[in-house]
Amino acid sequence: MPSIVIFLIRFVFGAIIGSFLNVVGLRYRSGLTLGGRSACASCARTLKWYELVPIWSYFALRGRCSTCKVRISWLYPGMEILTGLIFATVLPGYWPAFAIYVVIFIYDLRHKIIPDSLVYASIGYALVVRLLFFHSSLADWLAGPVLFALFALGWLLSRGRALGFGDAKLALSIGLLLGASMGLSAIVLSFWIGTAITLPVMFFSMFFSQKKLTMKSEIPFAPFIILGAWGSLLFHLDLFHLTSF
Ligand SMILES: [Zn+2]
Repeated sequence: MPSIVIFLIRFVFGAIIGSFLNVVGLRYRSGLTLGGRSACASCARTLKWYELVPIWSYFALRGRCSTCKVRISWLYPGMEILTGLIFATVLPGYWPAFAIYVVIFIYDLRHKIIPDSLVYASIGYALVVRLLFFHSSLADWLAGPVLFALFALGWLLSRGRALGFGDAKLALSIGLLLGASMGLSAIVLSFWIGTAITLPVMFFSMFFSQKKLTMKSEIPFAPFIILGAWGSLLFHLDLFHLTSF
């Protein structure tokens, strides 16, 4: 099969999973169960099957509920596209970890907190994969704990303002999953992505927005860590030249 076809199949599969992860991320700890048909959050009308097609429906509906015209969050197609791209570009062994990361991504964006149960599940998965499937050096085993310690220090020094303790646990998970070279690179990349996204947003909000975003604003960092992990894995980043270590 041509590789573009395989890419598309994996993308579509990822987008379908992403659509489910949206539901998990939005209903998690909200008192709602995962069962039951999806409904418009504003007018509560049950959605028809053609309004539930990943990515496609959002654009076909032009981002609005067809009954009450309320805007549908860009998170829905955004997370479907992201999950599709991740599934199309990383080995299937990483899929379960990234499925959990996508839910953490959504939850942190909305609530600015990383649920323990999710991050512990990802740490458990990373541990099992590292034990059973990876040939790990001592540095690979240390990457997670070292990243955890660095983030915990950042959390302590900023008194939880710049980084949350949940970010430290997520960094541990990423370090375990990706090992020394890609794990450390992932975190550096996440700071670059964070800066590249946050600075322009801060700049524009200073001039154009009533709601001011400043250095003191709580910015969810997990999405940047997760994008950094994906980017590092995608390009086999080795910013510190640790592969020979
Ligand atoms: Zn509606």
